[in-house]
Amino acid sequence: MSDPKNAWHQLRAGNELFYVPAAGRRRNPIVHTPTAAVFRCADSPVGSAMAFGQSWGSLLEVSTWGHVIDSGVLATMEYAVDTLAVPLIVILGHDECPAVRAAMRAWDEAVIPDGAARIPVQQGIASIVRRGVGTDSVKAVTAAHIVETGVALTERSPKIAHHVDTGRCAIVCAGIDSDSGHLRTYATIGPVGDVSDSLLECV
Ligand SMILES: [Zn+2]
Repeated sequence: MSDPKNAWHQLRAGNELFYVPAAGRRRNPIVHTPTAAVFRCADSPVGSAMAFGQSWGSLLEVSTWGHVIDSGVLATMEYAVDTLAVPLIVILGHDECPAVRAAMRAWDEAVIPDGAARIPVQQGIASIVRRGVGTDSVKAVTAAHIVETGVALTERSPKIAHHVDTGRCAIVCAGIDSDSGHLRTYATIGPVGDVSDSLLECV
């Protein structure tokens, strides 16, 4: 069982390995425009750069529990597409997501949890309702919630919707298997091109 002191010690020790002490040297070239923005679930054990084999700085990453959308997420994604001209947003969910499980449990038992956990649970329930999926399949609910998260970004942000409508940005809604690393595309919104395993082209 870790504690705050041990956890911080572990991170500081890791930074000692990361830090490049020589003045004027950089570990990697600065990436001015990220290749993509990734909005992922915070409880996934797989980070975006690792999942997509990308180098440091090449992805703009935002993570929340159950990829719940709030004003901070919207502001960050608008900054990515509007200011940085990032051409792609990826919604990255994952298998066996505890947030999806919590939404399924709340739906089945008709009980909303206390505290801020109610927010991702309510968004998860909204995905169940809007996609019309049964709660007997965690895979189906996970896919529905990932797709609804992508759709909700365009519904809640006129700026993001405008960039998608004008072909300057697209959204890919995908999930990753935490064990194998296999990526499954559930939907695409906007001009992504040929995505062979996409189940739904929303726009
Ligand atoms: Zn998750």
